[in-house]
Amino acid sequence: MDYIIGHKNPDTDSIMSVIVLADFFKKMGKTLIPGRIGEVNDESKWALEKFSLEIPKKVEYNENDKYFLVDHNAPEQTIDNLKEEQILGVIDHHKISIKTSIPIFYHAEPLGCTCSILYKMYKKEGFEISKEIAGAMLSAILSDTVIFKSPTTTEEDRKIAEELAKIAGIEDIEEFGLELKKQNMQISKLSDEEIITRDLKENTKDGYKFAIGQIEVIGDEILKRKESLLKKMEEIAKERGYRFLILAITDIIKEGSYLFVVGDLEVPEKAFGKFENGMIWLDGVMSRKKQITPPIMNA
Ligand code: MG
Ligand code: MG
Ligand code: MG
Repeated sequence: MDYIIGHKNPDTDSIMSVIVLADFFKKMGKTLIPGRIGEVNDESKWALEKFSLEIPKKVEYNENDKYFLVDHNAPEQTIDNLKEEQILGVIDHHKISIKTSIPIFYHAEPLGCTCSILYKMYKKEGFEISKEIAGAMLSAILSDTVIFKSPTTTEEDRKIAEELAKIAGIEDIEEFGLELKKQNMQISKLSDEEIITRDLKENTKDGYKFAIGQIEVIGDEILKRKESLLKKMEEIAKERGYRFLILAITDIIKEGSYLFVVGDLEVPEKAFGKFENGMIWLDGVMSRKKQITPPIMNA
C-alpha cells in the first residue's frame, strides 16, 4: 500500500495535507491513502467535521508499504523504522534534516504551511479545488500561521488563504481562524501529560536528544498549573532520555511565549537567557520552527 503521512503528534496541517495530497493524486490518476501516525487533536477534528471530511486512517509501519511524507522530513518525526527506499516523496515547509543515499522526490518551499505549497500545485496543474478541499487547506494555513500572526507567514500564504476562503464560503477569515484555534485551548480538559505531549517535537543536537512542546492559549490561566507541569515534564524527559525538555506556552493575543524548561539548562539559557524558576517570557516569540528551535540549535 502507498500512504501519505504527516508527522507524529499531527497538527491540522499534517492532517489536512494528507487529505489534500490524496485528492491531488486522485486527479493525477494515482491512488494514495491518506494516513496519520498519531491522534487527531480537537482543532483538526472540528475542521474535519466542518468541511465533511473523513479522519485519515491510523497507519502502522509495514516494511512492504511506501510512504509519501508531508509537513515533515526529520527522521525522528516520521513513522518509526522508515527506510529511505520506502519514501515516495516529501512535500514540506521545514528545514531539511533528512539525508538520503538515493535520489528522492523532494519539494520544499519556505511558506507558512504545507497546504500553501499544495494549493500552488493545484493551480499549476489547472485542477479545480472543491469546497471541502479549500476548507481543509484554509484551516491548515490559519492553524500553522496562527491566523497570520506567526513570523512564518508570507504574503503568499495570505493571498492563498483569501482565495481559499472564497471557495470554502468563509466570509470572515479572522473570526473563523479564532474559532478554529480555540478548539485546542480547552486546557482544563487536558491532563498535564496531554498539554506537554500533544504537540511535542523531538530533535537531536550533537548526538543527544531534546524536545520542544508547544501549546497555544489566550490568557494566563495555565500558569496556575506550572508546578505540576514542570514535575510531569521532568518525568517525561527522564523516561524518554531528553537532555532538556521545553514547553512553549504561546499566547496568541499577547503575541509571545512562556517557555518552561526542565533538564540541563546550559543550552536553553545560552539560547534565551536566564530562566526564573524554570520559566521565561519571550515577547514576540510565536514560532517554534523559526524562533525557538534555531536558537537552540545554534547555542
Ligand atoms: Mg506541522
Ligand atoms: Mg506545517
Ligand atoms: Mg505547528
